[in-house]
Amino acid sequence: MCGIVGYIGEKKATPILLDALEKLEYRGYDSAGIALVSGKGINIFKTRGRIADLRKIIDAAPADDSCVGIGHTRWATHGEPSDLNAHPHRSKSGRVAVVHNGIVENYKELIEEFHLNEGLKSQTDTEVVAALLNLYYQVENNPKAAIYKTVEKLKGTFAFVIMFKDKPGKIYSIRNVSPIVATQFDWGCMLASDVSALCSYTNKYFVLPEYSLL
Ligand code: GLU
Repeated sequence: MCGIVGYIGEKKATPILLDALEKLEYRGYDSAGIALVSGKGINIFKTRGRIADLRKIIDAAPADDSCVGIGHTRWATHGEPSDLNAHPHRSKSGRVAVVHNGIVENYKELIEEFHLNEGLKSQTDTEVVAALLNLYYQVENNPKAAIYKTVEKLKGTFAFVIMFKDKPGKIYSIRNVSPIVATQFDWGCMLASDVSALCSYTNKYFVLPEYSLL
């Protein structure tokens, strides 16, 4: 069981995402990462290992003051624990980034059907979803339509949090079976795979209904 978090609001996203991921450490994980989006694009930091290792990588990099981001702790199901297989995963185009909790059972069939093999760098089922989102986004030019079209094609369990490079003020989430809870404060909105990630800030939250797009 891995962890997912997302934040959008008026504060810097990095410390909020890292603190929330630490609250989810008890669920177990082998790697961790965050993606931040701003007008400059999508910035990803990820590594095999602990959140403490991720913090070192982020501290050594130029500061990213983005107020919108997503984060993940991975429990590998497809592909070994490695820097490359860690989430977030980005489409080859760089336009879409996604974190995922769960298993996409038909990812091999999707690679064949949509000829996605060439663009894939990792061994994960999740990167196939990033590629498919990108494909549908090219066609639809609309994030929500691209997400609905993508999840229609998936078999398995999933909770996704998704960002698009050219929609830097938004994050999106959709799930089937795997959990997502969400909340809103006067300084932003947060979502996570369980309420322990939110409990420093609030005890009010809602469970995202299956196949509802947030
Ligand atoms: N199936 C995905 C992977 O292996 C997500 C695993 C998870 O839920 O952490 O990367």
